[in-house]
Amino acid sequence: MGLGDQIMASGMARGAAARGKRIALGDGRRIVWEKTSFDIFRGNPNVAPPGSEGAPDLEWLAYYKGHRLYNRRVGDRWVWNLSFRAKPGEIFFDQVETAAGMRHGESFIVVEPQSAQWKTVAPNKDWGVANFQAVADRLRGLGLRVVQFRGEQSAVALRNVEQLATTSFRDALAILARASLYIGAEGGLHHGAAAVGIPAVVLFGGFIPPAVTGYASHTNLTGGAEACGLLKPCKHCRAALARISIDDVFNAALHHLRARGGEAAGRTGT
Ligand SMILES: [Zn+2]
Repeated sequence: MGLGDQIMASGMARGAAARGKRIALGDGRRIVWEKTSFDIFRGNPNVAPPGSEGAPDLEWLAYYKGHRLYNRRVGDRWVWNLSFRAKPGEIFFDQVETAAGMRHGESFIVVEPQSAQWKTVAPNKDWGVANFQAVADRLRGLGLRVVQFRGEQSAVALRNVEQLATTSFRDALAILARASLYIGAEGGLHHGAAAVGIPAVVLFGGFIPPAVTGYASHTNLTGGAEACGLLKPCKHCRAALARISIDDVFNAALHHLRARGGEAAGRTGT
């Protein structure tokens, strides 16, 4: 999958076309894209697709599957590169995608209670469906519209939370671009929220450090843990997630919604 990885790559490539360059993601000889690269980079003028090796405008960046710059594998864990900083990515929607992204309206809160359950690390990033349900219930109690995406690999559906059908990850991001807030685990959608300029409350826990794959515009909750990078179920990660309270997430959500409300008021006032 690696959707988040491709979105981070789009952040690294940002601005290349403006200086007459394209970023070649690969080993210096071969551009290495995955299926998700084609999805995320569609329409992006800053990256060079496979087949353009040898073009005169390339800048090579050694960022590809198995060589991600922000981590390296040592035994059964990731060791994080603490000098790496994710920059917000970019998704270049075409007119059809942008229009489709508006079909569910706007100013809703997207909650994603589970992320990439097929990965062995999933338990180390799982805050718990019941906790997300409690946050959703409290937000709904304030009269706010809370939604969740339904796609092919959708997580469990939260009760009383509007389920928005999506046709692809890009479609989900086009809808997310109309949201007022994202709440969920560290993963593809938190990278997506940063790319479409939406604030987020991100449940990091103890697996991966926000300093590496988090964004300054988001609230990144670790439960006070140092990131371990362990790829098998980890007590330390479980304890870190357990220290993040429903209040922590709810209050961070309100903080972002108020900040955004202020912005909107500012816009209409001028
Ligand atoms: Zn851990």
